[in-house]
Amino acid sequence: MNAMNPNEARLLARKRELTQRLGKIETDLETTRHPDSEERATERENDEVLEGLGLQGQIELTAIDAALKRIADGTYGTCVRCGGEIGRERLEAVPHAALCRNCMG
Ligand SMILES: [Zn+2]
Repeated sequence: MNAMNPNEARLLARKRELTQRLGKIETDLETTRHPDSEERATERENDEVLEGLGLQGQIELTAIDAALKRIADGTYGTCVRCGGEIGRERLEAVPHAALCRNCMG
């Protein structure tokens, strides 16, 4: 397990991207509110969308960190539930996948 995992670079790149996006979402949420009430209703809806995106991003970021830890531990590519092998194809599609196809249900 000493060879550099080709998915590690992808995970790190994705992590950077997500971190930047989450930082931007936070900035957007902190921008000054428009005093007009109608505008504020729209802004609130936007905030909910942004918060949703932020939450999704957080979840993915957590999964990526876990995957990077598994790479460091040498358990990357092993299903965390059944210990079986996560298919190479699946890891190429979803580099942070923690479960094999069977356990995904
Ligand atoms: Zn499994």
